[in-house]
Amino acid sequence: MRLPDRVRALPPAQPIARLGNQAYPLSANPSASALEATDFLKTWALRKTIFDREGGICFYCLRHTPANVQCLDHVVPRARFGRNSYRNLVACCMECNFRKSDRPAQDFLRSLYRKGRLTAAELDRRLRALKDLAAGRLRPIPPISAG
Ligand SMILES: [Zn+2]
Repeated sequence: MRLPDRVRALPPAQPIARLGNQAYPLSANPSASALEATDFLKTWALRKTIFDREGGICFYCLRHTPANVQCLDHVVPRARFGRNSYRNLVACCMECNFRKSDRPAQDFLRSLYRKGRLTAAELDRRLRALKDLAAGRLRPIPPISAG
């Protein structure tokens, strides 16, 4: 009988959501379940929270992207049942939006690395950011509601 080649320990649980230089405990967010159900393409204000989260930088190639040429990209394409959740939407430049198309985001990031658009360290951080995104650790700051 063969043992698996590698048994990887799970990373330690992260009780803190990190977003840029902000950190806040997940349990302190009373609207967490509402956030999970939110369609972030529904209104301009919601779309803007995704752009704001990325801070004017393309999620994939890290290029500074002027607001008028930013796109929102589905990490998992809608064609593959990707949702309009903050866990599946990123702000990116038009070029990345066009080139990524329906490819898996990991493959696209690796192609940016092969073309020299990302360094090895940047690729590593981008792949980690993808995991954080899917795990709900990259929460946008909700728009201030009038209620
Ligand atoms: Zn880009």
